[in-house]
Amino acid sequence: MQALTNRQKLVERKPMSFIERMYLPAIFKGMAITFSHIFKKKPTINYPEKKRPFSPVFRGLHILNRDEEGRENCTACGLCAVACPAEAITMEAAERKSNEEHLYREEKYAAKYEINMLRCIFCGLCEEACPKDAIYLSETFAPSDYQRKQFIYSKDELLIPHPIDNPEAYKKALGNRAKKKKLN
Ligand code: SF4
Ligand code: SF4
Repeated sequence: MQALTNRQKLVERKPMSFIERMYLPAIFKGMAITFSHIFKKKPTINYPEKKRPFSPVFRGLHILNRDEEGRENCTACGLCAVACPAEAITMEAAERKSNEEHLYREEKYAAKYEINMLRCIFCGLCEEACPKDAIYLSETFAPSDYQRKQFIYSKDELLIPHPIDNPEAYKKALGNRAKKKKLN
């Protein structure tokens, strides 16, 4: 057969020695390596019972933030979508009605807000671009799933729990931000 390059090398197949044909020395050598690892510190952990602490700069699943009164911070300005290099964010803006002041902090709010987690590269630029502290990347990650459509996160899935109705879940979602806000 004609060679494609001149770098081919013939591999010499030496006949096995008597020791090699017995296989036992190779088996003992392998067992010795295995046993030598028994007393070493395990690099693995029993996930999900145990979890490793995340790096302080870890960027996980997005959270749409509320203020202390539970009003949504997002004003649907679209800066996060413009900043997103993966074009993962889509939204629809709506105008706040007079009886909705307890729901939305600003006069305009996101009636629809979606992030496609299959596109997202968790760069954090949406958080940096937001002028209203309305979105941040939390210390958790998107759970696995079997269907692509499950990775398009809607506003309901992204919104932080209400701080007055569900303070424990709110604090948990804030994570390290709770410490900064002295909620712990
Ligand atoms: S983390 Fe980056 S890629 Fe993901 S939605 Fe935000 S800006 Fe887009
Ligand atoms: S999350 Fe922030 S940047 Fe994005 S639309 Fe809402 S207010 Fe604007």
